[in-house]
Amino acid sequence: MAYDVVIIGGGPAGLAAGIYVKRAMLNALLIEKIGIGGQILITDLVENYPGFLETSGADLSRKFEQHALKFGLEIKSIVEVTGIEDRGEMKVVKTSEGDLDTKAVIIAAGTTPRKLGAKGELNFIGRGVSYCATCDGFFFREKVVVVVGGGDSAITEAIFLTKMAKKVIIVHRRDKLRAEKINQEHAFANPKISFAWDSVVEEIAGKQVVEKVMVRNVKTNELSEIKTDGVFIYVGLIPNTGFADVEKDEGGFIIANGKMETSVRGIFVAGDCRVTPLRQIATAVGDGAIAAVSAEKYLEGI
Ligand code: NAP
Repeated sequence: MAYDVVIIGGGPAGLAAGIYVKRAMLNALLIEKIGIGGQILITDLVENYPGFLETSGADLSRKFEQHALKFGLEIKSIVEVTGIEDRGEMKVVKTSEGDLDTKAVIIAAGTTPRKLGAKGELNFIGRGVSYCATCDGFFFREKVVVVVGGGDSAITEAIFLTKMAKKVIIVHRRDKLRAEKINQEHAFANPKISFAWDSVVEEIAGKQVVEKVMVRNVKTNELSEIKTDGVFIYVGLIPNTGFADVEKDEGGFIIANGKMETSVRGIFVAGDCRVTPLRQIATAVGDGAIAAVSAEKYLEGI
């Protein structure tokens, strides 16, 4: 049996698309590589999604899922997409569990945290190096941690880490943060947070676990050592789009028009994995709704 729409990805964009396609009475399946939620699952505090003054990513994603299930969306987890074959009016979504026939596809596969590329980084993953403060912050109670990056992820997660750690040092390669102004203000006002400006981490070192990072000041070229128990890395996102043969930018983000149509008819995109000026839960949800309605209109025309 062929689906009308297969949605790839169970984050806010995919679940919003799921709600809209089910309300359009389409035969739809959402497939998710790991578990429902996506990147927001590793977000402790969400305070910019309208209607929710303060919530957690996990709680919000549970609500999105319940909402999609209420309208009868079929969801399959732990299914990885390996490719999409375009056969004109039919597409074949290739997965770890076999092939799925569908008339339309919505790619909402999100992103994965980028690795820093510093010496020692990969050796210490799980032994002091982490990409998820919500998952691992608990292990750093009363410890010193370094956070690398100057975007919203680095700053909000640094603030979160101050709940456990005794000291958080943000290492940023410039002297200005990229994060939202309100997040910056909160970080500057937090007495547990200090900054190493204009600095890059060259090496993460220790014996069994992380003990220090070697940091180079890019203006003076001076190399210095920061003693630390953990390093949390937030240096941007890599789109999960390798399986999709559609037009992308040089970073692998999918290019779409305002209707979320990609370069291939019948394949739509939504959320963080597309080229977009803003990656927020609110924008992902908006993209998902548009992609779903565009898919519905496309299906009416074929
Ligand atoms: P991001 O905005 O791309 O920021 C990445 C940061 O890492 C930048 O400060 C960048 O420095 C730095 N960086 C990149 N490569 C580096 C390298 N090789 N060495 C050292 N530093 C490096 O990524 P993000 O913070 O993960 O955020 C992704 C998106 O999600 C953004 O659109 C963000 O607004 C959104 N987000 C929003 C919230 C929120 O609103 N509360 C929370 C989390 C994420 P430069 O600044 O010099 O480029």
